[in-house]
Amino acid sequence: MAGIVLLALGAAPAGAQQARNVIVFLGDAGGVPTLNAAGIMAHDRPQSLFLHTMPNVGLSDTSARNQWVTDSAAGMTAIMTGQKTDNAMVSVVPSTAGGAPTPVKTLMEYAEQRGLSTGIVTNMPIWDATPAACYAHVPARKDKDEIFRQLLAPRFGDGIDVLVGHGRADAVASFAAHGTTADKAFAGAGYRFGSDPALVGSGGRVAVLRDDEFAPLPTVEATIATLARNPKGYFLMVEWDMHTDDPHKGLRHVVEMDDMIRRISAVAGKDTLILFTADHSFGLRMGGGDRKSPLAQQYAAEAAKPEVTVANNQVISIDDTHTGEEVIAAASGPGAEQVRGFFPNTRLFDVMLSALGWKRDE
Ligand SMILES: [Zn+2]
Repeated sequence: MAGIVLLALGAAPAGAQQARNVIVFLGDAGGVPTLNAAGIMAHDRPQSLFLHTMPNVGLSDTSARNQWVTDSAAGMTAIMTGQKTDNAMVSVVPSTAGGAPTPVKTLMEYAEQRGLSTGIVTNMPIWDATPAACYAHVPARKDKDEIFRQLLAPRFGDGIDVLVGHGRADAVASFAAHGTTADKAFAGAGYRFGSDPALVGSGGRVAVLRDDEFAPLPTVEATIATLARNPKGYFLMVEWDMHTDDPHKGLRHVVEMDDMIRRISAVAGKDTLILFTADHSFGLRMGGGDRKSPLAQQYAAEAAKPEVTVANNQVISIDDTHTGEEVIAAASGPGAEQVRGFFPNTRLFDVMLSALGWKRDE
């Protein structure tokens, strides 16, 4: 009986194509209302994002183990490990015996163990909960120093091959507090360390950390070109922050990521599973706007009124909080057909694992 269950969760059925590569595009806080508003703001048409053309779509429950509304730590842990955990926990689950929380192996660690190349590109700090849930195991997401330590002390393989993200000043402070420098620590772990994303194209293991924005598409393209040199394949996680407490910035980020997915989908190859999802939704609502003039103009005109705040803008209003409704998962490539219907976010781990032909460790 156990054997049959394992088979069901394991390798793809005979004849089905397997994925060599997996790319996860994680829209942080990119819920359905945010995608809807971003598409109309950018193109003045509903369902105008590339995401809306992806062939397989499902609705993913994001609730945490202990709360109905998740944070990024528990949300990304579920996607990367297949297990729900408590808010603020990063790829660990509470111990049933009451002891210290137990680390849970992440998909990125499975990939490292099997010799694939791995990468993270994010416009959030590299130690923040979403990227950290790929490689670190800590009970408290705020434990920045320990997350940086674990980033450079991988449990499997040789660690993540390409790292691009924010948080350079954080890294400098964390390593200084432990008697070294970020330059020495990253070099000691085998990285070329810098702040210019162009470093990614130069080959070898690279860590690019900076504190301001960078051009997403060339960076992701260079990252894929680097990772794809490995005949065994690669696993890449791209996170783009879509929190809309600043709606202008958040909605622009949606369009940036959508452009990335459009471009990468055109060049990634048929053996690549591409998955877009969000770790949780967010309290953004379109509450108005007519179809006679561009929505962005209407939003700006409303925002110019002295009595209007971001929150009470009649065109797009913001309740500045994560929200609990399902988010979309959209997929293309081998295994994408499993992304259908309503399911828990933990299912996405199994979708990726079985697309690669792997089985969960028991
Ligand atoms: Zn988040």
